[in-house]
Amino acid sequence: MTAVTIIGGGWAGLAAAVRATQKGFAVRLLEAAPQLGGRARRVVHEGLALDNGQHILIGAYRDTLRLLHTLGVDTEAALLRLPLQLQDIHGQGLALPALPAPLNLLVGVCSARGWSWADKFSLLRQATGWQTQGFACEAHMTVAELCQGLTPKVMQQLIDPLCISALNLSATQASGQIFLTVLKDALWSGNGSSDMLLPKVDLGSLMPDAAHAWLTAHGAIVETHQRIEDLGPWLHHHVVLACPSWEAAKLTHGLAPAWSAQAASLTHTAIATVYVRTTQQLSWPHAMVALPSRPDAPAQFAFDKGSLSADPAWQGVLALVVSASTDERDTITQQVMGQIRDQLAIHDASLITTVVEKRATFACTPTLVRPPAQVCAGIWACGDYVAGPYPATLEAAVRSGFAAADALLQ
Ligand SMILES: Cc1cc2nc3c(=O)[nH]c(=O)nc-3n(C[C@H](O)[C@H](O)[C@H](O)COP(=O)(O)OP(=O)(O)OC[C@H]3O[C@@H](n4cnc5c(N)ncnc54)[C@H](O)[C@@H]3O)c2cc1C
Repeated sequence: MTAVTIIGGGWAGLAAAVRATQKGFAVRLLEAAPQLGGRARRVVHEGLALDNGQHILIGAYRDTLRLLHTLGVDTEAALLRLPLQLQDIHGQGLALPALPAPLNLLVGVCSARGWSWADKFSLLRQATGWQTQGFACEAHMTVAELCQGLTPKVMQQLIDPLCISALNLSATQASGQIFLTVLKDALWSGNGSSDMLLPKVDLGSLMPDAAHAWLTAHGAIVETHQRIEDLGPWLHHHVVLACPSWEAAKLTHGLAPAWSAQAASLTHTAIATVYVRTTQQLSWPHAMVALPSRPDAPAQFAFDKGSLSADPAWQGVLALVVSASTDERDTITQQVMGQIRDQLAIHDASLITTVVEKRATFACTPTLVRPPAQVCAGIWACGDYVAGPYPATLEAAVRSGFAAADALLQ
């Protein structure tokens, strides 16, 4: 059996380990942290299982769903599937009906609450234009430039929240081409692609725990608390680097300087999640609501964890997400607590914890050149930052993990 060492046990490394094991490699996965999952992991706070950040999957995450299926995860039980909606607590904004695509988009846009016909028409005209141009735009374009024909309301209630949640960057900074790819896969790739899949369990239970059990049952070795500082001892095997870009850059500095420099050049943006508890009865239209975010009220979305799961521990727990966050933890917490009071009319919220991930995602700007999967002979990289069509997402991580394992055979 050919041996492969996988360094990093986030979603990319776990996907690579599963695929390589399926292909008959003797897999050893080494993870620095005490737990698997990386930037999508369980965080236990005073006995309450939360996450390092609220995550959303979408129906277009085909490789992620394939991985969950391989691992035997019951996706019906673990994920709440909802048609795409970006409505506020009053039900204003876009919500797609449960109809076949692309009829769902047409009906959803025409019936968007609070939108004038000029808003609706601008979106339909722009969307038709994107489709006619094959969802391609000039590489230098930002999302804001791409969307110049849209009305301010469509920008505020649809494009800005979609862009910030998918690319973790504002529309004035984010890559138009990557945004178009996400739109195409979500909205024009068949029934269910645009559905939102909200985890009903913590992220550890969603995938990493199942991957650990599957890998062990299939003969792979999985070791946590194993930070690799030097690739030297591992180079007599195939190596897959599944650590984040900044760690991969350090490890390959002497072996592949050009690749290492490219990985090191990526910049990152933060995401903060504020978890609170309330005893107030909520009458939100959905488990997730969009918020009118401003610099001093920075959360873009709120999630009612209690309506996602019957678990008594999650009742009354809310997660408020601040994508592309720039402030320090205390400031974010204070501003979001004000937002909960003023925008959600919740007056008894008590803070559980605020988790700030400073390097949540790489900054997916126009013309960004991402490092390729092959580092040098015998060393591959996988991770959400490796060259590919997607921004930093679970799907990008899993796809690149599968691709790295497939490359081992070539
Ligand atoms: C708060 C937050 C919210 C997000 N929301 C969403 C969302 O809603 N939807 C979505 O699709 N995506 C979301 N993402 C992005 C998604 O979580 C990431 O794209 C994905 O988890 C990246 O996985 P990865 O395996 O590429 O990298 P990582 O998760 O970073 O995994 C790398 C692993 O390598 C380990 N490691 C590092 N150095 C070493 C070393 N020297 N030796 C051994 N191991 C090492 C790390 O500990 C880590 O476990 C979010 C991210 C964050 C942080």
